[in-house]
Amino acid sequence: MLRFAPSPTGDMHIGNLRVALFNYIVAKQRGEELLVRIEDTDKERNIEGKDKEILDILGLFGIEYTNVIHQSEHLRYHRMMAIQLLQDKHAFNCFCTPAELEHKREVAKKAHKPFRYDDACTHLPHELVIDNENPFTIRLRRPEEAVVVNDLIKGEISFAPEDIDAFIIMRAEKYPTYNFACAVDDMLGDISLVIRGEDHMSNTPKQIAVRNALGYEKKMEYAHLPIILNDEGKKMSKRDDASSVKWLLKEGYLPSAIANYLIHLGNKTPQEIFTLKESLAWFDLSSISKAPARFDMDKLKFINGQHLRMLDAKELSRYVGFADEAIGEVAKIFLEEARTLKELRPKIEAIFAEKSIPEEFTEQAEILRKVILDAPYFESFDDFKKHLMQESGLKGKNFFKPLRLLLSGAEHGPEVADLYVYLKDFLGEIVK
Ligand code: GLU
Repeated sequence: MLRFAPSPTGDMHIGNLRVALFNYIVAKQRGEELLVRIEDTDKERNIEGKDKEILDILGLFGIEYTNVIHQSEHLRYHRMMAIQLLQDKHAFNCFCTPAELEHKREVAKKAHKPFRYDDACTHLPHELVIDNENPFTIRLRRPEEAVVVNDLIKGEISFAPEDIDAFIIMRAEKYPTYNFACAVDDMLGDISLVIRGEDHMSNTPKQIAVRNALGYEKKMEYAHLPIILNDEGKKMSKRDDASSVKWLLKEGYLPSAIANYLIHLGNKTPQEIFTLKESLAWFDLSSISKAPARFDMDKLKFINGQHLRMLDAKELSRYVGFADEAIGEVAKIFLEEARTLKELRPKIEAIFAEKSIPEEFTEQAEILRKVILDAPYFESFDDFKKHLMQESGLKGKNFFKPLRLLLSGAEHGPEVADLYVYLKDFLGEIVK
Protein backbone atom coordinates (compact mmCIF):
# COMPACT_ATOMS: atom_id res chain seq x y z
CA MET A 1 0.00 0.00 0.00
CA LEU A 2 1.24 3.50 -0.85
CA ARG A 3 -0.18 6.67 0.60
CA PHE A 4 -0.64 10.34 -0.11
CA ALA A 5 -0.92 12.25 3.15
CA PRO A 6 -1.90 15.90 2.60
CA SER A 7 -2.68 18.32 5.41
CA PRO A 8 -5.96 20.22 4.91
CA THR A 9 -4.28 23.48 5.87
CA GLY A 10 -4.20 25.47 2.63
CA ASP A 11 -4.42 25.41 -1.14
CA MET A 12 -2.73 22.41 -2.65
CA HIS A 13 0.91 23.18 -3.49
CA ILE A 14 2.39 21.89 -6.75
CA GLY A 15 4.99 20.05 -4.65
CA ASN A 16 2.16 18.11 -3.01
CA LEU A 17 0.54 17.40 -6.33
CA ARG A 18 3.85 16.06 -7.60
CA VAL A 19 4.00 13.78 -4.53
CA ALA A 20 0.44 12.59 -5.25
CA LEU A 21 1.24 11.91 -8.92
CA PHE A 22 4.37 9.94 -8.09
CA ASN A 23 2.56 7.89 -5.45
CA TYR A 24 -0.20 7.13 -7.93
CA ILE A 25 2.23 6.12 -10.69
CA VAL A 26 4.37 3.90 -8.50
CA ALA A 27 1.33 2.26 -6.87
CA LYS A 28 0.00 1.41 -10.33
CA GLN A 29 3.38 0.14 -11.49
CA ARG A 30 3.76 -2.08 -8.44
CA GLY A 31 0.17 -3.27 -8.53
CA GLU A 32 -0.42 -1.82 -5.04
CA GLU A 33 -3.25 0.29 -3.69
CA LEU A 34 -3.11 4.00 -2.91
CA LEU A 35 -4.50 5.37 0.33
CA VAL A 36 -5.30 9.05 0.84
CA ARG A 37 -4.76 10.05 4.44
CA ILE A 38 -5.94 13.55 5.32
CA GLU A 39 -3.57 14.63 8.10
CA ASP A 40 -5.94 16.68 10.20
CA THR A 41 -4.41 16.20 13.64
CA ASP A 42 -3.28 19.81 13.94
CA LYS A 43 -6.76 21.19 14.60
CA GLU A 44 -5.73 24.82 14.75
CA ARG A 45 -4.25 24.76 11.27
CA ASN A 46 -7.05 22.83 9.55
CA ILE A 47 -9.18 24.82 7.14
CA GLU A 48 -12.73 23.66 6.67
CA GLY A 49 -13.44 22.23 3.22
CA LYS A 50 -9.79 21.85 2.17
CA ASP A 51 -10.02 18.06 2.44
CA LYS A 52 -12.80 18.01 -0.14
CA GLU A 53 -10.87 20.42 -2.34
CA ILE A 54 -7.83 18.12 -2.26
CA LEU A 55 -9.96 15.12 -3.28
CA ASP A 56 -11.55 17.16 -6.08
CA ILE A 57 -8.10 18.08 -7.40
CA LEU A 58 -7.00 14.42 -7.29
CA GLY A 59 -10.13 13.55 -9.28
CA LEU A 60 -9.44 16.27 -11.82
CA PHE A 61 -5.93 14.96 -12.39
CA GLY A 62 -7.07 11.34 -12.74
CA ILE A 63 -5.27 10.23 -9.59
CA GLU A 64 -7.26 7.20 -8.48
CA TYR A 65 -7.13 5.94 -4.91
CA THR A 66 -8.72 3.05 -3.10
CA ASN A 67 -9.50 4.60 0.25
CA VAL A 68 -9.63 7.91 2.12
CA ILE A 69 -9.18 8.27 5.85
CA HIS A 70 -8.91 11.26 8.14
CA GLN A 71 -6.04 10.87 10.56
CA SER A 72 -8.19 12.13 13.45
CA GLU A 73 -10.23 8.91 13.11
CA HIS A 74 -7.18 7.10 14.45
CA LEU A 75 -6.90 9.01 17.71
CA ARG A 76 -7.72 5.97 19.81
CA TYR A 77 -4.91 3.98 18.15
CA HIS A 78 -2.45 6.81 18.71
CA ARG A 79 -3.37 6.89 22.40
CA MET A 80 -3.22 3.11 22.69
CA MET A 81 0.23 2.96 21.13
CA ALA A 82 1.48 5.77 23.38
CA ILE A 83 0.31 3.82 26.43
CA GLN A 84 2.04 0.72 25.13
CA LEU A 85 5.28 2.66 24.67
CA LEU A 86 4.99 4.00 28.23
CA GLN A 87 4.39 0.52 29.61
CA ASP A 88 7.37 -0.86 27.70
CA LYS A 89 9.47 2.07 28.96
CA HIS A 90 10.19 3.21 25.42
CA ALA A 91 8.44 6.47 26.26
CA PHE A 92 8.25 8.61 29.39
CA ASN A 93 6.16 11.39 30.84
CA CYS A 94 7.76 14.81 30.65
CA PHE A 95 6.63 17.49 33.12
CA CYS A 96 8.80 20.30 31.78
CA THR A 97 6.62 23.35 31.31
CA PRO A 98 6.48 25.23 28.00
CA ALA A 99 8.19 28.18 29.75
CA GLU A 100 11.06 26.01 30.97
CA LEU A 101 11.52 24.49 27.55
CA GLU A 102 11.39 27.90 25.91
CA HIS A 103 14.09 29.12 28.24
CA LYS A 104 16.32 26.12 27.42
CA ARG A 105 15.71 26.72 23.74
CA GLU A 106 16.84 30.35 24.14
CA VAL A 107 20.00 29.28 25.94
CA ALA A 108 20.83 26.81 23.16
CA LYS A 109 20.20 29.49 20.56
CA LYS A 110 22.54 31.94 22.28
CA ALA A 111 25.23 29.27 22.39
CA HIS A 112 24.62 28.62 18.65
CA LYS A 113 23.75 25.03 19.39
CA PRO A 114 20.72 23.09 18.24
CA PHE A 115 18.22 22.60 21.06
CA ARG A 116 18.24 19.07 22.42
CA TYR A 117 16.09 17.69 25.21
CA ASP A 118 18.25 17.66 28.35
CA ASP A 119 16.73 14.51 29.83
CA ALA A 120 15.24 16.41 32.76
CA CYS A 121 12.39 13.89 33.05
CA THR A 122 13.92 10.88 31.32
CA HIS A 123 14.79 9.06 34.52
CA LEU A 124 12.27 10.39 37.07
CA PRO A 125 11.58 7.93 39.86
CA HIS A 126 8.32 6.04 39.43
CA GLU A 127 6.68 7.69 42.52
CA LEU A 128 7.39 11.13 41.13
CA VAL A 129 5.73 10.22 37.91
CA ILE A 130 2.52 8.79 39.32
CA ASP A 131 2.20 11.33 42.14
CA ASN A 132 2.62 14.27 39.85
CA GLU A 133 -0.44 16.36 39.10
CA ASN A 134 1.21 18.71 36.66
CA PRO A 135 0.38 18.56 32.97
CA PHE A 136 2.73 16.35 31.02
CA THR A 137 3.66 15.44 27.50
CA ILE A 138 4.90 12.02 26.43
CA ARG A 139 8.31 11.69 24.83
CA LEU A 140 9.88 8.78 23.02
CA ARG A 141 13.12 7.65 24.62
CA ARG A 142 16.09 8.63 22.46
CA PRO A 143 17.15 5.58 20.45
CA GLU A 144 20.49 4.04 21.42
CA GLU A 145 21.77 3.57 17.92
CA ALA A 146 21.84 5.61 14.76
CA VAL A 147 18.92 5.18 12.38
CA VAL A 148 19.88 4.63 8.77
CA VAL A 149 17.48 5.73 6.05
CA ASN A 150 18.05 4.17 2.67
CA ASP A 151 16.34 6.61 0.39
CA LEU A 152 15.50 5.63 -3.19
CA ILE A 153 16.45 9.10 -4.42
CA LYS A 154 18.94 10.43 -1.88
CA GLY A 155 20.78 7.22 -1.08
CA GLU A 156 21.85 6.18 2.42
CA ILE A 157 21.66 8.75 5.23
CA SER A 158 22.47 7.99 8.84
CA PHE A 159 20.94 9.96 11.73
CA ALA A 160 22.65 10.03 15.11
CA PRO A 161 20.56 9.42 18.28
CA GLU A 162 21.15 13.06 19.39
CA ASP A 163 19.58 14.29 16.17
CA ILE A 164 16.55 12.08 16.60
CA ASP A 165 16.36 13.26 20.23
CA ALA A 166 13.78 12.35 22.89
CA PHE A 167 10.95 14.06 21.01
CA ILE A 168 7.34 14.60 22.03
CA ILE A 169 4.87 12.02 20.73
CA MET A 170 1.79 13.14 22.71
CA ARG A 171 1.06 16.75 23.59
CA ALA A 172 -0.17 17.76 27.04
CA GLU A 173 -3.78 17.59 25.76
CA LYS A 174 -3.01 13.98 24.74
CA TYR A 175 -3.22 14.52 21.04
CA PRO A 176 -0.43 13.01 18.94
CA THR A 177 2.29 15.04 17.28
CA TYR A 178 2.67 14.81 13.51
CA ASN A 179 5.65 12.44 13.68
CA PHE A 180 3.94 10.02 16.03
CA ALA A 181 0.58 9.95 14.23
CA CYS A 182 2.30 9.56 10.88
CA ALA A 183 4.58 6.74 12.08
CA VAL A 184 1.67 4.82 13.63
CA ASP A 185 -0.61 5.33 10.65
CA ASP A 186 2.00 4.21 8.14
CA MET A 187 2.35 1.06 10.24
CA LEU A 188 -1.41 0.50 10.52
CA GLY A 189 -1.81 1.16 6.78
CA ASP A 190 0.81 -1.50 5.99
CA ILE A 191 2.64 1.09 3.88
CA SER A 192 5.45 -0.34 1.76
CA LEU A 193 6.90 2.86 0.30
CA VAL A 194 6.62 6.47 1.45
CA ILE A 195 7.07 9.07 -1.29
CA ARG A 196 7.04 12.63 0.02
CA GLY A 197 8.86 15.96 -0.11
CA GLU A 198 12.40 16.24 1.19
CA ASP A 199 11.28 18.74 3.81
CA HIS A 200 10.24 15.61 5.71
CA MET A 201 13.68 14.00 5.55
CA SER A 202 14.55 14.88 9.15
CA ASN A 203 11.23 13.43 10.33
CA THR A 204 11.91 10.04 8.79
CA PRO A 205 14.37 8.71 11.42
CA LYS A 206 11.96 9.85 14.15
CA GLN A 207 9.12 7.94 12.54
CA ILE A 208 11.31 4.87 12.11
CA ALA A 209 12.34 5.17 15.77
CA VAL A 210 8.66 5.12 16.82
CA ARG A 211 8.01 1.94 14.88
CA ASN A 212 11.21 0.33 16.11
CA ALA A 213 10.12 1.07 19.68
CA LEU A 214 6.72 -0.48 18.94
CA GLY A 215 8.49 -3.61 17.73
CA TYR A 216 7.29 -3.25 14.14
CA GLU A 217 9.71 -5.10 11.93
CA LYS A 218 8.50 -4.61 8.38
CA LYS A 219 10.88 -2.42 6.44
CA MET A 220 9.36 0.60 4.81
CA GLU A 221 11.03 2.14 1.78
CA TYR A 222 11.41 5.91 1.42
CA ALA A 223 11.77 8.31 -1.47
CA HIS A 224 12.13 12.01 -0.65
CA LEU A 225 11.58 14.34 -3.58
CA PRO A 226 13.78 17.42 -3.95
CA ILE A 227 12.06 20.72 -3.38
CA ILE A 228 10.86 23.00 -6.17
CA LEU A 229 12.58 26.37 -6.43
CA ASN A 230 11.17 29.60 -7.84
CA ASP A 231 12.83 31.99 -10.30
CA GLU A 232 15.02 33.44 -7.58
CA GLY A 233 16.27 30.03 -6.55
CA LYS A 234 14.24 30.07 -3.33
CA LYS A 235 11.82 27.38 -2.22
CA MET A 236 8.46 27.94 -3.91
CA SER A 237 6.14 29.19 -1.23
CA LYS A 238 2.58 30.40 -0.89
CA ARG A 239 3.80 33.81 -2.04
CA ASP A 240 4.56 32.37 -5.48
CA ASP A 241 1.17 32.24 -7.22
CA ALA A 242 2.31 29.39 -9.45
CA SER A 243 2.84 27.19 -6.39
CA SER A 244 -0.93 26.82 -6.04
CA VAL A 245 -2.60 24.16 -8.15
CA LYS A 246 -5.87 26.10 -7.96
CA TRP A 247 -4.18 29.22 -9.32
CA LEU A 248 -2.65 27.33 -12.25
CA LEU A 249 -6.04 25.86 -13.13
CA LYS A 250 -7.60 29.30 -12.97
CA GLU A 251 -4.86 30.65 -15.24
CA GLY A 252 -5.94 28.16 -17.88
CA TYR A 253 -3.48 25.31 -17.53
CA LEU A 254 -4.88 21.86 -18.27
CA PRO A 255 -4.56 19.18 -15.58
CA SER A 256 -2.91 16.88 -18.13
CA ALA A 257 -0.29 19.54 -18.90
CA ILE A 258 0.41 20.35 -15.24
CA ALA A 259 0.83 16.62 -14.57
CA ASN A 260 3.14 16.30 -17.59
CA TYR A 261 5.20 19.25 -16.38
CA LEU A 262 5.51 17.98 -12.80
CA ILE A 263 6.53 14.47 -13.90
CA HIS A 264 9.09 15.93 -16.31
CA LEU A 265 10.51 18.41 -13.78
CA GLY A 266 13.95 17.35 -12.50
CA ASN A 267 13.53 13.98 -14.18
CA LYS A 268 14.80 12.11 -17.21
CA THR A 269 11.83 11.17 -19.34
CA PRO A 270 11.93 9.46 -22.75
CA GLN A 271 9.89 12.28 -24.26
CA GLU A 272 8.89 15.78 -23.27
CA ILE A 273 5.16 15.58 -23.99
CA PHE A 274 3.15 12.71 -22.58
CA THR A 275 0.06 11.81 -20.60
CA LEU A 276 -0.08 10.49 -17.06
CA LYS A 277 -1.24 7.10 -18.38
CA GLU A 278 1.72 6.96 -20.79
CA SER A 279 4.18 7.70 -18.01
CA LEU A 280 3.13 4.51 -16.21
CA ALA A 281 5.12 2.57 -18.81
CA TRP A 282 8.50 4.16 -18.14
CA PHE A 283 8.44 6.26 -14.95
CA ASP A 284 11.36 5.44 -12.69
CA LEU A 285 11.81 7.02 -9.27
CA SER A 286 15.54 6.44 -9.40
CA SER A 287 15.94 8.79 -12.37
CA ILE A 288 14.67 11.76 -10.36
CA SER A 289 17.50 14.23 -9.84
CA LYS A 290 18.81 14.64 -6.29
CA ALA A 291 19.18 18.37 -6.81
CA PRO A 292 16.28 20.80 -6.32
CA ALA A 293 14.27 21.49 -9.46
CA ARG A 294 13.61 24.99 -10.72
CA PHE A 295 10.07 25.91 -11.72
CA ASP A 296 9.96 27.21 -15.27
CA MET A 297 6.73 28.94 -16.26
CA ASP A 298 7.70 29.15 -19.94
CA LYS A 299 8.24 25.43 -20.11
CA LEU A 300 4.88 24.82 -18.43
CA LYS A 301 3.26 27.16 -20.96
CA PHE A 302 4.89 25.35 -23.84
CA ILE A 303 3.74 21.97 -22.52
CA ASN A 304 0.25 23.38 -21.97
CA GLY A 305 0.12 24.58 -25.58
CA GLN A 306 1.04 21.08 -26.71
CA HIS A 307 -1.66 19.51 -24.56
CA LEU A 308 -4.24 21.99 -25.84
CA ARG A 309 -3.36 20.83 -29.36
CA MET A 310 -3.86 17.23 -28.31
CA LEU A 311 -7.51 17.91 -27.39
CA ASP A 312 -10.06 17.18 -30.05
CA ALA A 313 -12.16 20.08 -31.34
CA LYS A 314 -15.22 19.15 -29.27
CA GLU A 315 -13.26 19.02 -25.98
CA LEU A 316 -11.46 22.25 -26.75
CA SER A 317 -14.71 24.02 -27.55
CA ARG A 318 -16.05 23.06 -24.11
CA TYR A 319 -12.96 24.48 -22.46
CA VAL A 320 -13.51 27.82 -24.18
CA GLY A 321 -17.18 27.89 -23.23
CA PHE A 322 -18.92 26.70 -26.43
CA ALA A 323 -20.15 23.18 -27.03
CA ASP A 324 -19.62 23.24 -30.77
CA GLU A 325 -17.08 21.37 -32.83
CA ALA A 326 -16.69 24.17 -35.38
CA ILE A 327 -15.80 26.64 -32.63
CA GLY A 328 -13.33 24.06 -31.30
CA GLU A 329 -11.69 24.06 -34.75
CA VAL A 330 -11.50 27.86 -34.66
CA ALA A 331 -9.92 27.63 -31.20
CA LYS A 332 -7.38 25.19 -32.59
CA ILE A 333 -6.35 27.77 -35.18
CA PHE A 334 -5.84 30.32 -32.40
CA LEU A 335 -3.49 27.90 -30.59
CA GLU A 336 -0.83 29.34 -32.88
CA GLU A 337 -0.86 32.36 -30.62
CA ALA A 338 -2.40 31.19 -27.31
CA ARG A 339 -0.87 28.66 -24.95
CA THR A 340 -3.32 28.78 -22.05
CA LEU A 341 -7.10 28.74 -21.87
CA LYS A 342 -6.94 32.15 -20.28
CA GLU A 343 -5.19 33.48 -23.38
CA LEU A 344 -7.43 31.53 -25.72
CA ARG A 345 -10.90 32.33 -24.33
CA PRO A 346 -10.88 36.09 -25.03
CA LYS A 347 -9.84 35.43 -28.62
CA ILE A 348 -12.88 33.25 -29.22
CA GLU A 349 -15.13 35.58 -27.25
CA ALA A 350 -13.94 38.52 -29.37
CA ILE A 351 -15.30 36.82 -32.49
CA PHE A 352 -18.84 36.91 -31.11
CA ALA A 353 -18.57 40.13 -29.15
CA GLU A 354 -19.69 43.55 -30.33
CA LYS A 355 -16.80 44.81 -32.46
CA SER A 356 -15.06 48.05 -31.79
CA ILE A 357 -13.74 49.30 -35.11
CA PRO A 358 -11.02 51.95 -35.24
CA GLU A 359 -12.28 55.22 -36.67
CA GLU A 360 -10.36 55.00 -39.95
CA PHE A 361 -12.32 51.84 -40.85
CA THR A 362 -15.77 52.44 -39.38
CA GLU A 363 -17.31 53.50 -42.64
CA GLN A 364 -15.89 50.55 -44.59
CA ALA A 365 -16.88 48.16 -41.83
CA GLU A 366 -20.46 49.39 -41.96
CA ILE A 367 -20.63 48.81 -45.71
CA LEU A 368 -19.10 45.34 -45.35
CA ARG A 369 -21.39 44.41 -42.48
CA LYS A 370 -24.46 45.03 -44.63
CA VAL A 371 -23.02 43.14 -47.60
CA ILE A 372 -22.13 40.16 -45.42
CA LEU A 373 -25.59 40.04 -43.86
CA ASP A 374 -27.22 40.12 -47.31
CA ALA A 375 -24.77 37.72 -48.93
CA PRO A 376 -25.84 34.24 -50.01
CA TYR A 377 -24.04 31.22 -48.53
CA PHE A 378 -20.59 30.58 -50.00
CA GLU A 379 -18.75 27.35 -49.37
CA SER A 380 -15.39 28.76 -50.39
CA PHE A 381 -13.70 31.82 -48.94
CA ASP A 382 -12.52 32.92 -52.37
CA ASP A 383 -16.08 33.10 -53.68
CA PHE A 384 -17.19 34.86 -50.50
CA LYS A 385 -14.36 37.39 -50.83
CA LYS A 386 -15.05 38.05 -54.51
CA HIS A 387 -18.70 38.65 -53.77
CA LEU A 388 -17.94 41.05 -50.91
CA MET A 389 -15.42 43.02 -52.95
CA GLN A 390 -17.81 43.32 -55.83
CA GLU A 391 -20.76 44.41 -53.72
CA SER A 392 -18.84 46.77 -51.43
CA GLY A 393 -16.49 48.29 -53.99
CA LEU A 394 -13.72 48.07 -51.33
CA LYS A 395 -10.28 46.67 -51.92
CA GLY A 396 -6.80 46.34 -50.41
CA LYS A 397 -6.37 47.50 -46.84
CA ASN A 398 -9.80 49.11 -46.88
CA PHE A 399 -11.30 45.71 -47.49
CA PHE A 400 -9.08 43.30 -45.57
CA LYS A 401 -8.67 45.28 -42.35
CA PRO A 402 -12.38 45.80 -41.66
CA LEU A 403 -13.13 42.22 -42.79
CA ARG A 404 -10.66 40.81 -40.28
CA LEU A 405 -12.02 43.09 -37.56
CA LEU A 406 -15.60 42.07 -38.30
CA LEU A 407 -14.86 38.35 -38.37
CA SER A 408 -12.35 38.04 -35.55
CA GLY A 409 -12.69 41.19 -33.44
CA ALA A 410 -8.92 41.67 -33.66
CA GLU A 411 -6.56 43.60 -35.92
CA HIS A 412 -4.06 40.79 -36.16
CA GLY A 413 -4.34 37.05 -36.00
CA PRO A 414 -4.74 33.90 -38.06
CA GLU A 415 -5.60 33.95 -41.77
CA VAL A 416 -9.21 35.04 -42.28
CA ALA A 417 -9.50 32.34 -44.96
CA ASP A 418 -8.67 29.67 -42.36
CA LEU A 419 -11.22 31.06 -39.91
CA TYR A 420 -13.91 31.30 -42.60
CA VAL A 421 -13.92 27.51 -43.06
CA TYR A 422 -15.43 27.13 -39.58
CA LEU A 423 -17.13 30.47 -39.11
CA LYS A 424 -19.17 30.55 -42.29
CA ASP A 425 -22.25 29.10 -40.58
CA PHE A 426 -22.16 31.78 -37.87
CA LEU A 427 -21.73 34.92 -39.97
CA GLY A 428 -25.12 36.29 -38.92
CA GLU A 429 -24.18 36.13 -35.25
CA ILE A 430 -20.64 37.36 -35.79
CA VAL A 431 -21.24 40.56 -37.76
CA LYS A 432 -24.65 41.42 -36.27
N1 GLU B 1 1.00 15.94 5.91
C1 GLU B 1 2.32 16.14 5.43
C2 GLU B 1 2.36 17.29 4.46
O1 GLU B 1 1.34 17.63 3.91
C3 GLU B 1 2.86 14.98 4.63
C4 GLU B 1 3.33 13.93 5.49
C5 GLU B 1 3.86 12.72 4.82
O2 GLU B 1 3.72 12.53 3.59
O3 GLU B 1 4.37 11.93 5.57
O4 GLU B 1 3.41 17.84 4.27
